Amino acid sequence: MAQPASFADLGITQPILAALSDMGFEEPSPIQVQTIPHMLAGRDVIGQAQTGTGKTAAFAVPALQRLDSDGPRPQVLILTPTRELALQVAEEVARIGVNLGAREAAIYGGQPIERQIRALRAGVDVVVGTPGRLLDHLRRGTLELRHLRTVILDEGDEMLDMGFIDDIEAILQAAPGERQTAIFSATVPLPILRLTQRYLRNPVHLRVTPEHLIAPSIEQSYYEVRGIDRTEALCRLIDVLGMGRAIIFCRTKRGVDELTAALQARGYPAEAIHGDMAQPQRNRALARFREGGSELLVATDVAARGLDIEGVTHVINFDIAQSPEAHVHRIGRTGRVGRSGAALTLVLPREVKQLRAIADSTGARIPRGILPSPADVAAAARDSVRRQLLEVLGEADLGECLDLARELAEASSPVMVAAAALKMVLDAGRGSARGGAGGNDSGSDGITAEPGMQRLFVNMGGRQGLRPGDIVRAISGTGGISGGEVGVIDIHDDFSFVEIPRAAADRVIAVLRRTRIGGRPVNAEVARARNGG
Ligand code: ADP
Ligand code: MG
Repeated sequence: MAQPASFADLGITQPILAALSDMGFEEPSPIQVQTIPHMLAGRDVIGQAQTGTGKTAAFAVPALQRLDSDGPRPQVLILTPTRELALQVAEEVARIGVNLGAREAAIYGGQPIERQIRALRAGVDVVVGTPGRLLDHLRRGTLELRHLRTVILDEGDEMLDMGFIDDIEAILQAAPGERQTAIFSATVPLPILRLTQRYLRNPVHLRVTPEHLIAPSIEQSYYEVRGIDRTEALCRLIDVLGMGRAIIFCRTKRGVDELTAALQARGYPAEAIHGDMAQPQRNRALARFREGGSELLVATDVAARGLDIEGVTHVINFDIAQSPEAHVHRIGRTGRVGRSGAALTLVLPREVKQLRAIADSTGARIPRGILPSPADVAAAARDSVRRQLLEVLGEADLGECLDLARELAEASSPVMVAAAALKMVLDAGRGSARGGAGGNDSGSDGITAEPGMQRLFVNMGGRQGLRPGDIVRAISGTGGISGGEVGVIDIHDDFSFVEIPRAAADRVIAVLRRTRIGGRPVNAEVARARNGG
């Protein structure tokens, strides 16, 4: 395979490159690599690739780059089959065109036509719309097609299935003859081919067909996320499934950062790796993950490419992969050399189709799993405590704890004492069943503090320039404890732990929450105990 191209290699100019980078796109997808240079050169294009492969940016980037900012408008017309898609595409156009000052409007049925007329009259560069409503505007004379430079038919096969062919032809006939036309579609059935023969000029037909892929033989499942937050769904799975080490894939760099912060705030030691991080930072994150200091590695496809880490028990697709190839690369991070592994994919209802396509073209079985309920999470936490308790019982050397238990049992019944002890443990874990199989056992990263001390989680770390002195100063200044009373300080890339006397915990948390370090607000909370071994 050729060297992966960068967006800059495709001839994209700076304002758009910057926007793509802000969107967290690290590198172009295969259909983008193939089509963007041709479209930039003004060619007519048939772009054929499955759903979820980035066809929107494949046409939006060149269409926007070819805008003549001084010329009459609108210059670009994009036809989509549904109003949802019109909105989605318009949104992506807005994000890609943000540095060009490009204006776009979404025009679809079901919205008051007056509002659309006002928007069109105010002047827009790019019109995105459904065929029926666009035709409506054409007939009313409220949409001007004379200055179009580019016309794009998005999801051509879907528009065809929905019976839009006549409307599409009417619109194409109303467009100027001197124009670029492109059609993007997952499949190119005969009627579409005919359409292209009639309305496209000497088009290049570019196809991204999945090579025959063989998924590694690991257990796969998918979970439909509806009605709850994706992060919540992920946390429940982590709590219930008892993972050793997991790699969690997000689509964008920003997604990685946001998920990592969300996990850390919930008390899960997670590390991030993506292309915006300097190499030493990436290495540190990877080292901690390899050595078991953190159990969760949140990554983009690019950053995780080629990683070979022992003992990865789970790969989790927080965002579904962009292509069957990418899916196979991702799940290849687990189950290496004969070990067992599992791959879980979170999908929205509308992504199920895309998942099916991945399953089909990789010949894998991906059955549906049921998301754990809060009750399942609580039950898993109880199981975990039971397991650990039996283990401790097996060790038999209970020392002073035995004396304490006898003393307490005189005041209350042994069963009540045991129940109270269990409640304490479970409450400290706040329902977490973390640990379990393969959990790490290094005390240094655990949340267990010295006796009399409380471990706090702080939402800042080395990457934000946090040093131990900052924490000591912040706490001892106004927190009512002296610097000498601050215990172990454990600074990670994006978060830290600090031990302080338990009695001062509430006060110190309040103080830290009012503090800014390096200009950033600090959040601190009691670090979540882990029941795991
Ligand atoms: P398609 O139209 O082929 O079904 P989309 O254009 O809707 O696919 O893209 C699917 C998702 O992938 C969108 O969320 C989009 O923002 C994202 N995406 C597109 N190109 C890239 C890229 N190069 N890197 C990362 N994400 C991308
Ligand atoms: Mg699309």
